[in-house]
Amino acid sequence: MASIFTKIINGEIPCYKIAEDDKFFAFLDINPNAKGHTLCIPKIEVDKIMDLDEETYMGLMAFTRKVGKAIEASIDCNRVGITVIGLEVPHVHVHLIPLNAMKEATFQHKVSPTKEEFETISAKIRSKIQ
Ligand code: AMP
Repeated sequence: MASIFTKIINGEIPCYKIAEDDKFFAFLDINPNAKGHTLCIPKIEVDKIMDLDEETYMGLMAFTRKVGKAIEASIDCNRVGITVIGLEVPHVHVHLIPLNAMKEATFQHKVSPTKEEFETISAKIRSKIQ
């Protein structure tokens, strides 16, 4: 069965899209640690990041760098942190989290943007993608 993230890539489930190319896709996390928390995923459905072929792994890192730079340019933060967990969704995803304090990296601290805020945030980040 397709993962929830494959359904997002295919447009079967809505998302606040940030970026897409032929192999990768980025969208806002729906339960963010901080405003601008973004997930970057490969389009191929693989559960664990260490099981990605090397080309896809390296391509994903390059894609996350591009998206991370756009987050840094558009969201008020000290820096963008990178985390890979994957205990909830079995489809590789890299968390890009705008950080001002350690609590935002803990996944215990959550924020609840409104739909309008999600739309504004995603548009701001999208406008800085190069
Ligand atoms: P983990 O697998 O533990 O790395 O966490 C999965 C992440 O995916 C969590 O931060 C969720 O909030 C996020 N998530 C789950 N479903 C969706 C969705 N439909 N749209 C955006 N983010 C999601």
